[in-house]
Amino acid sequence: MEVQFTGVSQRSPNSLRYRYRMQGVDRDWIEAAESGQVAYTNLPAGTLRFEVQVARAPVDWSRPVNQAQVELQVEAPWWQRTGTHLLGLVLLALLFAGLHAFLGRRQSRRRRRLESVVAQRTEELREKNAELEQASREREQLLTQLAHQAHHDALTGLPNRRACDLFLESAVERAEDAGTPLCVALVDVDRFKPINDRYGHQAGDEVLAQVAAHLLASLQHPSVFVGRTGGEEFLVVLRDMAREEALPRLEQARMDIAAMRLASLGDDLACTISVGLVQQASGEKPDDLLRRADERLYEAKRSGRNRVVAG
Ligand code: GH3
Ligand code: MG
Ligand code: MG
Repeated sequence: MEVQFTGVSQRSPNSLRYRYRMQGVDRDWIEAAESGQVAYTNLPAGTLRFEVQVARAPVDWSRPVNQAQVELQVEAPWWQRTGTHLLGLVLLALLFAGLHAFLGRRQSRRRRRLESVVAQRTEELREKNAELEQASREREQLLTQLAHQAHHDALTGLPNRRACDLFLESAVERAEDAGTPLCVALVDVDRFKPINDRYGHQAGDEVLAQVAAHLLASLQHPSVFVGRTGGEEFLVVLRDMAREEALPRLEQARMDIAAMRLASLGDDLACTISVGLVQQASGEKPDDLLRRADERLYEAKRSGRNRVVAG
């Protein structure tokens, strides 16, 4: 903004003095010795008034002087206008809202991704856990099976030789401690070899399984133990029983087996057993007990088989 000013005096044009100010910009009057021009830059927006006074030297500005003035209306630059500010605010708000929405969407996308990863991992863990539980159950079953196999005979399902020895040992010990009677019987299938030879080993196996099942069913009692010591031989331990009580039980078993018919093997195949039965004498050890029972069994064989010899 440039203002040019000059005073006119016919008497003494050279003695004119000036002062001017732009209200709202200059704090004070600015004196000038001669007319000229003033330039303003960066004028503030709004209504401004440029005033210029002229007086003859020597000047006394307190006396009335000639004055000229011009009013200006300075428009604010676009960036300072209220509309621009409002627009800026609206744009800023829109930007903020857009950013907020964008960040929100990104966050929910991330959350969904994270949730799906967590769900996937959880599913994988659940599957692994189920596999481990299954493996653990199978291991338990296998161990139980192994423990069972270690003490049982595969063909008849009866306790095996090792289980027989262990059972007899503890039964003898218990009977000694409690002072209760104990009987032991050795059972042997009569003329089993000819059955094997005639019908085959597999048929022999079937006969053995049937004999074991009948023996077990016939002697069914909480105090009676039946095991297979090997081949076609079985051990029967009768706890808390004297010979008088044990003998009829074994007689019954012998008769049950003699009455057994194995039609599936043809010719109504029959077989019998011989039994040696003894009652434990005070202080008698398992080996001696078995030896005596074996002697009675031998007697039963010698005297014609299909019988129980008690001693
Ligand atoms: P005895 O009346 O004197 O006892 O005569 P036996 O023929 O029964 O006695 P022996 O000891 O001569 O024969 C027993 C036979 O049992 C011999 C063997 O081949 C057979 N044997 C042993 N264990 C098994 C088995 O697990 N399965 C089968 N099929 N046969 C067996
Ligand atoms: Mg034998
Ligand atoms: Mg035999």
